Amino acid sequence: MAGITVKTVDEKLVSLSTETLDGLAGRLRGTLCLPGEAGYDEARTIWNAMIDKRPAAVVRAAGASDVIQAVRLAAEHRLLLSVRGGGHNIAGNAVCDGGLMLDLSRMVSVRVDPEARVARVEPGARLADLDKEAQAFGLATPTGVNSTTGVAGLTLGGGFGWLSRKHGLTVDNLLSADVVTAEGELVHASETHHPDLFWAIRGGGGNFGVVTSFEFKLHRVGPQVIAGLIVHPFSHAREVLHEYRRLVAKAPEELCCWAVMRKAPPLPFLPVEVHGTEVLVIALCCASDPAAGEKAVAPFRAIGRPIADVVGPAPYAAWQTAFDPLLTAGERNYWKSHDFVELADGVIDLLLDAVRHLPSPQCEIFIANLGGAINRVPVEATAYPHRNVNFVVNVHTRWSSASEDKSCVAWARALYDASAPFATGGVYVNFMPDDEAQRVRSGAYGPNYDRLARIKARYDPGNLFRMNQNVAPAVGA
Ligand SMILES: Cc1cc2nc3c(=O)[nH]c(=O)nc-3n(C[C@H](O)[C@H](O)[C@H](O)COP(=O)(O)OP(=O)(O)OC[C@H]3O[C@@H](n4cnc5c(N)ncnc54)[C@H](O)[C@@H]3O)c2cc1C
Repeated sequence: MAGITVKTVDEKLVSLSTETLDGLAGRLRGTLCLPGEAGYDEARTIWNAMIDKRPAAVVRAAGASDVIQAVRLAAEHRLLLSVRGGGHNIAGNAVCDGGLMLDLSRMVSVRVDPEARVARVEPGARLADLDKEAQAFGLATPTGVNSTTGVAGLTLGGGFGWLSRKHGLTVDNLLSADVVTAEGELVHASETHHPDLFWAIRGGGGNFGVVTSFEFKLHRVGPQVIAGLIVHPFSHAREVLHEYRRLVAKAPEELCCWAVMRKAPPLPFLPVEVHGTEVLVIALCCASDPAAGEKAVAPFRAIGRPIADVVGPAPYAAWQTAFDPLLTAGERNYWKSHDFVELADGVIDLLLDAVRHLPSPQCEIFIANLGGAINRVPVEATAYPHRNVNFVVNVHTRWSSASEDKSCVAWARALYDASAPFATGGVYVNFMPDDEAQRVRSGAYGPNYDRLARIKARYDPGNLFRMNQNVAPAVGA
C-alpha cells in the first residue's frame, strides 16, 4: 500500500508511510480502504446527501480490536478522526474530509438474552436489527421511529420513539457499554465501572470514546400493538392540533402520538385527489395490550372528520418501519429543532403558516410527543438534560436538487427563528445540523455542560473525538 497524507486535528498534514499502513491493515480483522478502493465510497456515503466528504483512509472495523487499532493510530499521529455508526446523523460528522474515518457499520450483531431481558448490540446495528431480534421474544427497548437509523448515534444522543413515554429514553435503558477511550484502551462503563463515563455517554454523543458494544434493558412489547395513521385535511389542521394538544396531556403513557404536517404522499389508502396536497397526520402507537390500546386511541380517532384512519393491530417491528419509505437515504436534508414544554396557540399558528409555504414536496414538520417516563428522570441523572420537555418540533427540510438548497434552508431557519420565543431554548443534540456549534453548550446540554467538559478533560484531553457536536475539554479540570 502506497503511503498517504492525512489531516491532523490541528488542520496540519502528516504522512503515513507504507509500513505504517501495511502494519495497520495486517492487524485488522476488517479492512483499510483508500480512495478508489472497494468499500471506500460505500463507507463515506451517508444518509444526508448534503454531506460529501472524502476521508484520506477508512478503517471498516469488524470488531473492538479494529477500533482499538484505528484509535491508537489516530492518537499517535493526532489524526482527524470521524466515527460512523448507522450514518444517519443530519450533521454528517460520521465522515471527515482528509482524515481517518472509522466505519462501524459492519458490526451489526445483536444478542438477546430473553430470560434476563437484556440485549447486547454492536455499534453498526440499525434499529431494525435490534427490533427484530428482540421482538422474536416479544421484547423491545425504546428507540426511534425510522428503522434504518443507527442504534449507536441515536443512543449516544438520548434516543426517543414510540415506547419512550412508557419506558424512557434509549439511554434510560442503557445498562452498560464497552468504550474505546482516546488512549485506545477498552473500558467497561456502567453505574459501577467508570460511572462518570457512563453518565457522559448517556446523551453526550461521541465525545468520550468509541462504543463497541451496548447493553440494553428490554421490556415486554407486543408483538401486536395498536398503531397507525389518521390523516386530516389541512383546512382543519388548526382545530385538530388544538384537540391533539388537549388529548395528549391526559393520554396514558403507553400511548405515544406524534403529529406530522406535509404534502400527502401517494399512499394507497388516500384518495388520489389528496395526493400532493397538505395534510395533517396523527401517527400513534400504543404499547399496551391491544384491548387497552383500542381504548387509549379512541379519543384521537374521534377528532374531526379524517380523510383516512388506518389505525389497528400491527406487529410492533413492522410499525417501526412505517416511515422508512418517506425517509430514505440519498436526499438533501437540513433540520432545525426546538424543545417545547407546551404548544402555545402562537406556535401552532406559525407551524401552520410554514406548511402553507413548504419549499419542496418532501418537507415536513413533525411534533414528537415526549413526557411520561422520560420526565421522571432527574436532569442530573444522565448527560441528556431535557427532562421537562413534552414536545420536540423538528423542521425537516428535504429536497432533491442542489439548486433548491438556499430556499429550503431559508424556510427552515425562518420558522426556527419565528418559533424560538415559544421554545425552551433546549435542543435534542441528535437533531442539530452541522452549523449549530453555538447551541451545544446551553441548548444541547445546559446545566450538564460543565460536568461533561470535566469528564471530557479526563477521558479525551486532546479532543481526539471532535467530529461531533463537540464538548471542549474543561481547562484545568
Ligand atoms: C430519518 C431519521 C429519523 C430519525 N428519527 C429519530 C427518532 O425517532 N428518535 C431519535 O431519538 N432520533 C432520531 N433520529 C436522529 C438520530 O438519533 C441521529 O441521527 C443519530 O445520530 C443517528 O445515529 P447513527 O449511528 O445512524 O449516525 P452516525 O451519523 O453514524 O453517527 C452520529 C454520530 O454519533 C457518533 N457515533 C456514532 N457511532 C458511535 C460509536 N459507536 N461510538 C462513539 N460515537 C459514535 C459520531 O460522533 C457520529 O458523528 C433520526 C434521524 C434520521 C435521519
